[in-house]
Amino acid sequence: MLQNRAQAARFQDFPIINVPAMPDSPSPRLPRQQRDQQPLPERVFRVAVPSPLRRLFDYLAPQSSDVLPQPGCRVMVPFGRRTVVGVVVETADASGHDPGKLKAIETIIDRRPLVSADLWQVYRWAYDYYQHPAGDALSGILPALLRRGADADGDPIEHWQLSTHGHGLPETALSRAKKQQQLLNLLRQQGPLPAAAITAAGIGREIIRALAGKGLIESISVTPQPPQQEAASWLKGTPLPLRDEQQLALAAIQLDSFNTYLLQGETGSGKTEVYLQAIAAVLASGRQALVLIPEINLTPQTLARFRQRFCCDIAVLHSGLTDRERLSAWQRARDGRARIVIGTRSAVFTPLATPGILIVDEEHDASYKQQEGFRYSARDVAVMRGHRESVPVILGSATPALESLANCERGRYQRLVLKERPAGVSLPRWRLIDLRGSGLTAGFSEPLLNAIRATLTAGNQVLVFVNRRGYAPLMLCHDCGWMANCHQCSARLTVHRGQRRLLCHHCETPQPLPHQCPDCHSPNLAFVGQGTERSETVLAELFPEVPVLRVDRDTTRRKDAMEKLVDEVNRGEPCILVGTQMLAKGHHFAKVTLAALLDVDGGLFSADFRATEKMGQLITQVAGRAGREQQAGTVLLQSHLCDHPLITRLTSDGYAAFATDLLAQRRFADLPPWSHLALVRAEAENPQAAEQLLQRLRQEAERLSPPTPALRYLGPLPSAMERRNNRYRFQLSLCADQRRLLHPLLSALCQWLEADKDARHVRWSVDVDPQDML
Ligand code: ADP
Ligand code: ZN
Ligand code: ZN
Repeated sequence: MLQNRAQAARFQDFPIINVPAMPDSPSPRLPRQQRDQQPLPERVFRVAVPSPLRRLFDYLAPQSSDVLPQPGCRVMVPFGRRTVVGVVVETADASGHDPGKLKAIETIIDRRPLVSADLWQVYRWAYDYYQHPAGDALSGILPALLRRGADADGDPIEHWQLSTHGHGLPETALSRAKKQQQLLNLLRQQGPLPAAAITAAGIGREIIRALAGKGLIESISVTPQPPQQEAASWLKGTPLPLRDEQQLALAAIQLDSFNTYLLQGETGSGKTEVYLQAIAAVLASGRQALVLIPEINLTPQTLARFRQRFCCDIAVLHSGLTDRERLSAWQRARDGRARIVIGTRSAVFTPLATPGILIVDEEHDASYKQQEGFRYSARDVAVMRGHRESVPVILGSATPALESLANCERGRYQRLVLKERPAGVSLPRWRLIDLRGSGLTAGFSEPLLNAIRATLTAGNQVLVFVNRRGYAPLMLCHDCGWMANCHQCSARLTVHRGQRRLLCHHCETPQPLPHQCPDCHSPNLAFVGQGTERSETVLAELFPEVPVLRVDRDTTRRKDAMEKLVDEVNRGEPCILVGTQMLAKGHHFAKVTLAALLDVDGGLFSADFRATEKMGQLITQVAGRAGREQQAGTVLLQSHLCDHPLITRLTSDGYAAFATDLLAQRRFADLPPWSHLALVRAEAENPQAAEQLLQRLRQEAERLSPPTPALRYLGPLPSAMERRNNRYRFQLSLCADQRRLLHPLLSALCQWLEADKDARHVRWSVDVDPQDML
């Protein structure tokens, strides 16, 4: 069964994929009469409805409509006791169910498919590949208002045109009613016009009413059309003259066919300039560009850069939009009014009238993988989409994901490297500070404090990276050893001293900060370890003469907080920035010449095999913050593992060499990207329930596909965080040398789980290409 060829063909190794078979060609729009003349077999419409089940539901043609819905059109269908919005996925000549029991579609919402046939195939590929129920995936992909049945074509604007009667009228028939004659002439010359254009020509609404009353003109609804502007005039700013290597990269990118390019270059090496010039060429050929960026990078500065260069409509899609704004951006992209679409993860599904290029900036960023529900990777969907739509895909990063580097090695992606920084900017110098046996002041070593002092004295700015927010990651009693734990998770509570509380960073449950030990009542409580809040306090005490600015989720919650902070830093006065990952990404601070990392050793011992890769990316990104303009920068790394081979490799030879070593380790261990991984997670209040379900699932899996060296099972094992939100968590991992061994098996296992009685009491999910193993 699992060797079913059609099924296997859908899951050829990504991204060189045998294109899955097209669904039935769009069903003919036959007038009802004609259908009656030549009796067709009763058509069945297979509809995705919002439901957790991985199956489609069959419906008959609507009774009161003279057109049939095509795949990709929304319909209203009876489902249980409700009527819901569903999407027709395919049509068939017969249903597996008793035709007498099938219900009919109630209404057709869309007269034409929501998206092009190519993009529709990408949607279908995505929910199949990530093993997600179609209805749920599609509702996540579509703007909320469309999910609720809103018109996809945008608000049509009322236009006036000559009626047949008006057309037949002699040209000067109304010469005695001057204004009326003027309007007739206007419409005769210019065709349909909106009322606003008519009044702007000095003809009042009463004239329109008078002619309409005589039946000489009539109103029609016209959907807004893309501007008929010369593409060349969309360029506003002047492109920078490219450096040689930028020129080579741009020239290598073929704009008229699919290929995936990995544009690798340090922060500041000029990748964005290459994107901008590639986009300019795409716009000039009359096509559109889609640019994906991590949420954190979608800053006013990024948008300003696009707006300075292009004067076309740019649709921006991010999580802060209202439903209306989101639908409007979607419509402008779909009908071609928006020539550029910039957005975060889910923007990858935005339809484009004339797709021309797909760009994924910071392609290694974890935010491209959705971590719950429909667990897709926007980067990988983008590559698939470029393939279907025959357009180039550019993945850009200073620290590419190992997956992408491996795809270059396999010859699937073309690697383009930018080595230099713009003239006058040199790469930062690395300095390792060995923490073994050295004294620390709240996490800061003496050499680090000296370097901070020297940098500030020289009039420059300092950036300090701390990997946790809050004051301290642990609170304990000195007398009896009690520790503040979350009651719902197997995790310690983080101390948030300013807010006088303890907070679980996994379930968000707060508790008041105790003044004495709950067990032995001793007042001797201690805070252990460093968070951003504590580093901020310590630095403010040690360097009272400069501002200390903290950047983390707690301080930037308010909408404009980050912008204010960026403005303050850009004034250029000496200051210290303290923060989490947020500091490592996106923002460009010109006067930072020292970047320090307090403690990143954790990345070397984590249970997650991707932790070392993430650590290397983070260190490199933080380092990229130092010395971007005319000043050379220094990067200080405090570590207990200064002679760890990966640390020395990274700091002396750079990320590319580090990544090569990691790739070799992964190959040795048969781990992704050299194999393919999927996790089935299960969680339940009763730990046995979750574990036993996965045990039975493994038996079922082994029955369908016995383990071989090419298909390996591991687990069920407790997740690294065994309990979260009062639920015990387990995972079963499936690892295969080829995707075609994995995907048909996963589909069968999902069916098994959906049908299993006990699985109903367990929350289970499937994660294909998981990024987070914990
Ligand atoms: P990246 O996207 O790799 O971080 P950018 O494209 O943002 O790099 O370039 C970094 C800085 O260098 C920007 O201020 C940009 O304007 C400038 N820059 C990029 N390319 C050139 C060039 N060819 N000539 C002059 N300045 C450039
Ligand atoms: Zn105690
Ligand atoms: Zn918790």
